[in-house]
Amino acid sequence: MSDLDIRPTVRECGGRADVTAQPVRELLTGRDMPLGESTVVRRLLPTLGRRMIGAWCFVDHYGPDDIVDKPGMQVPPHPHTGLQTVSWLRQGEILHNDSLGSSQVLTPGALGLMTAGRGISHSEQTPRSHAPLLHGAQLWVALPDEHRHVAPAWEYHQGTPVDHGSGVTSTVILGEFANVTSPGTTYSPLVGVALDVAGGTSTNLPLERDFEYAALAMHGRVDIDGVPVEPGSLLYLGSGRSRLPVEATHDGAVMLLGGEPFEEKLLMWWNFIGRTDDEVRRYRDQWQQRDPRFGEVDSYDGARLSAPPFPDLPLKPRGRTR
Ligand code: MN
Repeated sequence: MSDLDIRPTVRECGGRADVTAQPVRELLTGRDMPLGESTVVRRLLPTLGRRMIGAWCFVDHYGPDDIVDKPGMQVPPHPHTGLQTVSWLRQGEILHNDSLGSSQVLTPGALGLMTAGRGISHSEQTPRSHAPLLHGAQLWVALPDEHRHVAPAWEYHQGTPVDHGSGVTSTVILGEFANVTSPGTTYSPLVGVALDVAGGTSTNLPLERDFEYAALAMHGRVDIDGVPVEPGSLLYLGSGRSRLPVEATHDGAVMLLGGEPFEEKLLMWWNFIGRTDDEVRRYRDQWQQRDPRFGEVDSYDGARLSAPPFPDLPLKPRGRTR
């Protein structure tokens, strides 16, 4: 997925000072953003009041959308730097192609993990022949400075659902949850886990006290720490918790995101994460000039995305707004 804003705003993110050291319950509703010509996503992160959850720095939720006789998601080749993209589907499928030559149809319950590192480009498309419904989430994980220039990589891992016998079935997407570890490569302490919650459940999930967390509601209505969270909204939970109360009257599904508060400040612009104005400007120019940094998505039949114009004024870091 991609930030397709034609006038993307510059965001400086990160810094432990902005992390609430207490458990909190802060409900964030997304804002609708067009993605390509035929998809609207709900952008939940970054938002006005919150920029990151651990190293998670971007969260889009989309669907469930009826795409019978429609093209579905169509995102032409575009670049990334300094981050990993995490693709997770509940329904439907997405064809991923990238400049490493990877070509993979993502299906529900599997992890599509792309490490951009120093630079990659990819496209994401609903296949021509596809399921009637599309429902999923796309997230970005910021890479810490010491790893952000690693070689680009693509990983695809079939998830392993674990029934906890409490009404909750978990599939670890990244990191570790309840003694189960995802095979996905990570570069900072974090967790992402998909939770299916059966109707009638009332339980507590184990958390790390040092992590901050948020819950992204995907389906049904699940009460998280007593707060009803509707699909497509994100409940920020703060840190300092060792357990999380979860209740549901009917079947539901939630993604739990967490991580150690990310110390570094980031510059996010369009699909790039860097540290300085000069650096991000250089990435933009290199993409426009077809620099080999980003390679080519050879299997894509069509034009690639052009980067928006870079702001005339130098990008100045802006403080995080709470
Ligand atoms: Mn993308």
